[in-house]
Amino acid sequence: MHIVELIDTYLAAHGDRVRATDDTGDWTGHALSERARRLAGGLRARGTGRGDRVGVMMANGVDVLVAYEAAWRAGAAITPLMPALTSGEVAHILGTAEPAAVLVSAETAGTARAARTAAGGTFPLVGAGGDVPLAEMEGGAEDAPGPGTGAAPVPLDDGDLAAVLFTGGTTGRSKGVMLTHRNLTAAARMAAASDDAGPEDVSLVTLPLSHGFGLIAFLVTHLRPLRLLVRRRFDPDGFAATVRAEGVTVADVVPAMLQALLDAGHVHSGALRSLRRLYVGGAPCPPDLIEAVEDALPVRVIEGYGLTESGTLIAGDSPSRPHRRGSVGVPFEGVEVRVVGPDGRDVPRGGTGEIIVRGPAVMAGYWRDEAATAGAIRDGWLYTGDLGCQDPDGHLRIAGRRKELIIRGGFNVHPADLENALRACPGVTGACVVGVPDRVLGERVVAAVVGTCTAAEVERHCRATVAGPKRPDVVVMVESLPLTPVGKPDRAALAAALAARDR
Ligand code: ATP
Repeated sequence: MHIVELIDTYLAAHGDRVRATDDTGDWTGHALSERARRLAGGLRARGTGRGDRVGVMMANGVDVLVAYEAAWRAGAAITPLMPALTSGEVAHILGTAEPAAVLVSAETAGTARAARTAAGGTFPLVGAGGDVPLAEMEGGAEDAPGPGTGAAPVPLDDGDLAAVLFTGGTTGRSKGVMLTHRNLTAAARMAAASDDAGPEDVSLVTLPLSHGFGLIAFLVTHLRPLRLLVRRRFDPDGFAATVRAEGVTVADVVPAMLQALLDAGHVHSGALRSLRRLYVGGAPCPPDLIEAVEDALPVRVIEGYGLTESGTLIAGDSPSRPHRRGSVGVPFEGVEVRVVGPDGRDVPRGGTGEIIVRGPAVMAGYWRDEAATAGAIRDGWLYTGDLGCQDPDGHLRIAGRRKELIIRGGFNVHPADLENALRACPGVTGACVVGVPDRVLGERVVAAVVGTCTAAEVERHCRATVAGPKRPDVVVMVESLPLTPVGKPDRAALAAALAARDR
């Protein structure tokens, strides 16, 4: 099945319901799709079609949902770009993806324009502040047969490219992950199977819809019809106010958002009491954070694990299974997981190694990068670059990224383990651990800590609870930790900031 079929099946059953709400109001499924068909017609009239990419660099809102559906109806793949990217990052993506058109909004048009010039592109920018207003593009004929409408729908195949998602680049140059219609519908089905949301649920999306996590949160609603409440961005006070005002029952978050809600007092204030489910993923989530939220609220925190290259989903908790502390749940149906050593052989069950996966949502490869594709997919298995282990009954535990593993004088230090130990110190509310080059040890362990205690107190706590070689060599108290635009710990930025301090 391709995504347009998924959407049309949804519309036939639920098209009259309010599908999405943003600051422009409520939109039924039919109203959104009508706009998408018109926009698809406009794109097709200007020559965009099957085999093309359509860049979407828009602030979160229903326009993004319209843009995605329109690109698919025109036969093209979407290339989402996060509004927070710099023009240099955008130029890299646009220069690599070579889109036929880029949809922009008032907030992003300037950056997109500068990036287009830098990339030497000639494609039009469509939307507020662009070359063609969105309304003009939507003024075209509807892209479907029917009374008074224009062209016939574009024939699509499951194997056609549906998205080229550029990775965050936290571990190197951003690469385009190619996901087909089959990949994305499979990912939506996996997410839906692990979910119990129904028509009465209201789902709040503050994560960028341009990230894989946000994209799947949107796609899954075609299988689990609910009202999607789209907000421009996350801030803890706005999130809490929206949950309270709209009776939000379901939300997707990254761990840093959960921590911010806790720090701002909203977890204990009663503002979030309507929440039934919080889906958390995208970065290691400290078990004590999950427990603090579940203890204070009648909510189930459901952790999921995956990466853009796996179609975002690999494993997850389920509302029907109790959460296991420190685990990210079991592999989704249809996903095979192995844990292998450096020689590529399976390590004995329970042992730590690299997680490799195979399944229907795993990417087709990296966009125009055969060498990177060959490095990531070997014999049909995607090498995730994550280290972890599996309990005898399949529960997966993530130790951290292989590239982030710190090797200090021959001892392996997993940043996430040490961060969890640091967070257990009274007064600590956040921690991020990185390795910095050291002449004697190879790498030194530096912990940046946020909290009300002193570095000496944190060091004393570590002496009492962490094995000698795995303790931080240096503890630095900081005001806040750097985060990527999606809200993940930005270890590269932290390491650079710490190195600059040392100079
Ligand atoms: P890049 O890959 O370029 O650094 P990115 O961080 O944005 O960019 P993603 O595909 O979004 O790329 O990140 C996936 C990674 O996030 C996984 O490989 C894993 O390391 C981490 N991750 C995701 N979910 C979890 C989880 N529940 N627990 C621990 N780590 C997680």
